[in-house]
Amino acid sequence: MSLRKSAAALAAIGAFAFCAMMGTANAAYPDKPITMFVPFAAGGPTDTVARSVAAVMSKSLGQQILIENVGGAGGTIGVGRAVAAAPDGYSLLLMHIGISTAPALYRTLKYDANKDLEPIGLITEVPMTMIAKKDMPAKDLKELIAYLKANKDKVSYANAGIGSASHLCGMLFMSAIETDLLTVPYKGTNPAMTDLLGGQVDLMCDQSTNTTSQIKGDKVKAYAVTSKARVPSLSNLPTMDEAGLKGFNIGVWHGLWAPKGTPKAVTDKVNKALQDALKDKDVIERFASLGTAPEPVARQTPDALRAQLAAEISKWAPIIKKAGVYAD
Ligand code: ASP
Repeated sequence: MSLRKSAAALAAIGAFAFCAMMGTANAAYPDKPITMFVPFAAGGPTDTVARSVAAVMSKSLGQQILIENVGGAGGTIGVGRAVAAAPDGYSLLLMHIGISTAPALYRTLKYDANKDLEPIGLITEVPMTMIAKKDMPAKDLKELIAYLKANKDKVSYANAGIGSASHLCGMLFMSAIETDLLTVPYKGTNPAMTDLLGGQVDLMCDQSTNTTSQIKGDKVKAYAVTSKARVPSLSNLPTMDEAGLKGFNIGVWHGLWAPKGTPKAVTDKVNKALQDALKDKDVIERFASLGTAPEPVARQTPDALRAQLAAEISKWAPIIKKAGVYAD
């Protein structure tokens, strides 16, 4: 055998051994705990969705899924951590609609979510709720809007940073009522809720997965839901449209990703575990009690999430450009 041929033969044997090794590694996956990055503070709505599905996924995969909350900069820091993680299936990312608004909002974003992540599946679309501190004088949305217009220098609006869902809802709301309010950013809306309950901030628009228990416990004033239809678990709250803001509608879709390059055999297993979680009775009941439901099975797939992300980036870019909001 010539020198060149034997080198080629050795390379082929090496490649075969590598593939066989990877195959075995994938077959054994997972053989240690998995980290799921959540780009907002613990105890908040995104974290609640993550912990609900991770509990069942852990059982399905036979390994613990540890939630790592990496808050800040509207979720972009946490997404960046997942993008930079090893593509071996031991790092996952659970993020929401904010992944599609960040490209238009952040001029110096260091990743491209379309290219730098492997989609696994859509999880749930959560309605938002417009809420205020308990002693807000306005009794319905119309009165609230009038109050905000008259007191715009006194009212503060809490959010989870530029690019978060609460920021997006606030941005659309302020533009709809043509009134700018002082915004106060937090690492997530769980700490923001603490300040709203304490009366340190006045107003917030946040997912029902964070606000339902406070609304039901009469700890905050609730004005409307942002979904097209009323939410069964909060049925006496009108939609924003019914309450007077025609066409105002946002749903906070959530998805699961892995770093780019994670082997398909691995993402297939994670997708199967996700689908197991989304048909689990306890998860469905918990979601319903928090005003949401699993995405239909056909949308719990990599293709559906890939298409959703691309479509939403295109949808939000002109809206955000028009609003003139950006961060560096
Ligand atoms: N609800 C937050 C948001 O506005 C995020 C969170 O704390 O989960 O995006």
